Amino acid sequence: MAKITHKPAPRKAGVPKKKAKAAAAKPKAPAKKSLKAIKPNSMKPWTPAEIREVFSRFQQANPEPRGELEHVNPFTLLVAVVLSAQATDAGVNKATRELFRVADTPQKMLDLGEERLREYIKTIGLYRTKARNVIALSAKVLSDFGGEVPRTRAEIESLPGAGRKTANVVLNMAFGEHTMAVDTHVFRVGNRTALAPGKTPLEVELGLERVIPSEFMLHAHHWLILHGRYTCLARKPRCEVCLINDLCRWPEKTV
Ligand code: SF4
Repeated sequence: MAKITHKPAPRKAGVPKKKAKAAAAKPKAPAKKSLKAIKPNSMKPWTPAEIREVFSRFQQANPEPRGELEHVNPFTLLVAVVLSAQATDAGVNKATRELFRVADTPQKMLDLGEERLREYIKTIGLYRTKARNVIALSAKVLSDFGGEVPRTRAEIESLPGAGRKTANVVLNMAFGEHTMAVDTHVFRVGNRTALAPGKTPLEVELGLERVIPSEFMLHAHHWLILHGRYTCLARKPRCEVCLINDLCRWPEKTV
């Protein structure tokens, strides 16, 4: 029979005897993050019934959600969205309230001119570039589209200063199309809840369009923006008052 010995493990060169003993006796605690990640439903895929439940709750709480960018017609909506890039809706509204009183059509905007337009919007970030774009887009709406805001994505995206998000907002709010504009709030909510995880706004947009039942699509963009702006806040989400906290998949939710 082999003789059992209890030889101490060889000590690493350079490690003092006392320290080596303490390290051997004290197993390392697991990192906190990995403990947090094991919440019960964090990895569970969403079922169609759960997604329907999310949007039914949003609908019940706010049947007719409104966007917060002030406008009086499709043209002023288009201008407001172009001005809102990297700015808050409240900041844009403060400037456009006066502006839209004097210039609510492409022709009036051209008559106002770039220099005077700059004066109205100088409190908004990047106002010089934005003023140039608004004048150029007004000219293009007049010359190429008979003075009316165009109704297709490609045409809206062809206007100076207008990108995919602008087209989605205008198509949805002015023309009632089922588009999903992804701003910083929608991007965060799509990822946190795991309704539509994605590395880019386009991935989140397409993911949301895929999973949201069509009867909710007209208002889904506003429900998600308002949810991100007032409940699922970037730094400190208010999970305790969140309508969908029992369904949300975020491992770090606080309920
Ligand atoms: S539970 Fe918290 S993290 Fe999840 S959607 Fe609600 S506020 Fe956001």
